[in-house]
Amino acid sequence: MGSGFGGYTCARLLERWLRPDEAEIVLITPKDYTLYLPLLPQVAAGVLQPRSIVAPLHTRLRRAKLLPGVAMDVDLDRRRCEVLKISGEVTSVPFDVIVLAPGSMTRTFDIPGLKEHARGMKTLAEAVFLRDHAIAQLELAASSSDPAERAARCGFVVVGGGYSGVETAATMQLVTRAALARFPGLDPGLLRWTLLDIAPKLMPELGEQLGDAATRLLRKRGIDVRLGVTLESMTDTSAKLTDGTTLPTRTVVWTAGVTPRPVVSSLGTETVKGRLVVGPDLQVPEHDGVFGLGDAAAVPDLTTPQGGVCGQTAQHASRQAATAARNAIAALRGGPMREYRHRDLGLVVDLGGRDAVARPLGVDLSGPLAQLVTRGYHLLTAPSGRTRFRISGDWLMNMCAGDDLIRLDFLKDSPGTLDELEHMPIKVKSRHEQKAGLRQ
Ligand SMILES: Cc1cc2nc3c(=O)[nH]c(=O)nc-3n(C[C@H](O)[C@H](O)[C@H](O)COP(=O)(O)OP(=O)(O)OC[C@H]3O[C@@H](n4cnc5c(N)ncnc54)[C@H](O)[C@@H]3O)c2cc1C
Repeated sequence: MGSGFGGYTCARLLERWLRPDEAEIVLITPKDYTLYLPLLPQVAAGVLQPRSIVAPLHTRLRRAKLLPGVAMDVDLDRRRCEVLKISGEVTSVPFDVIVLAPGSMTRTFDIPGLKEHARGMKTLAEAVFLRDHAIAQLELAASSSDPAERAARCGFVVVGGGYSGVETAATMQLVTRAALARFPGLDPGLLRWTLLDIAPKLMPELGEQLGDAATRLLRKRGIDVRLGVTLESMTDTSAKLTDGTTLPTRTVVWTAGVTPRPVVSSLGTETVKGRLVVGPDLQVPEHDGVFGLGDAAAVPDLTTPQGGVCGQTAQHASRQAATAARNAIAALRGGPMREYRHRDLGLVVDLGGRDAVARPLGVDLSGPLAQLVTRGYHLLTAPSGRTRFRISGDWLMNMCAGDDLIRLDFLKDSPGTLDELEHMPIKVKSRHEQKAGLRQ
């Protein structure tokens, strides 16, 4: 289930390792592609085209049967998975072994106005919408004579100082700065980017030195980085912060954390912060042949003495997929299970232009060398030769010809907010709740 880093990799390995007469592989996913999420901010920035960061499942998978839809309910007693197809029909899929990799979605809190007005950075549509929206704000600001409207349209707020928030603020600030040159009547001083995080440091997983280096660089570029501060409430024209200030803005990008997709709770088994509890073999305790991985699962981290669970990263999800595929086959054939053990290889963060910070294998890098490592890493880990080719072509094109800074006009009929683009309208009712007669 799921065609992201975990589900797609697992399906490919199962195709390779299972004999054709041994099992039928069904991949349940609403998309017909696998998406390379770490490059989403570059799609929002217009550096990469949306198609460049996806690989089509139809050509990448040969044997697996694609079932286009979302898994809503997994019945562990009857060994069936209920799927809402993209056509709206519901079908029930029997299974002997199931691997759950539905990933995560943006976690929102009860912050007034957030779901209705904020934007996310978790899907291709959100990245494309954000770009259109940002360019439209500058065009509208330039055509307005109202100072309050101009200030709100030129004010951009990103909440969340993890890699996705930092990359979004850093790359998008460069886009809007370049776009401003097209509007001579618009005072460049009006452009204001604010990056908030409730934590005292940006990207603590990068270590103190690199986190501080990124903060200094963003501040030098004019991004107002506010730490220990978050969003208190928002409307469509302003954001009220917990430090008491109110910023005029029509754009709040919310990247402050993720939560597993709701299908996880339908199993009725133990969860930690919504993530499916699995053992070191990725199997759900007391449910043979039921595996979980990636952002949706709390996988024990066996590489650190203090324990804990693995981080929600692409690196873990794709490596866990190999363990899940091996163990799924062991469950079918009756062999021994392996434990998941992987030491993190580091993190790369693109700050736009020639700037980046990276920590490959524990070595701190910043500046153009880090950018070289960052781009090399993405090319190595992109899902297919075709995506690598397209990504390299887009980078070259962007370097030589710059950005056309046009809107594709997806905004016309849709607000493109979190509520609309990310939070699925279907509410999943768990078996547990069905028995109790409750609504989720
Ligand atoms: C902007 C951004 C930048 C990032 N940068 C990095 C980085 O630099 N390095 C890094 O290691 N990690 C990075 N990450 C995190 C990384 O992308 C995730 O940890 C990783 O994608 C998790 O893989 P996954 O397979 O669990 O989920 P995903 O890759 O999210 O895949 C989940 C799949 O399940 C499908 N799905 C959802 N619900 C259902 C359902 N009910 N039924 C069936 N299918 C379903 C989805 O459509 C999707 O195909 C970044 C994330 C973001 C958003």
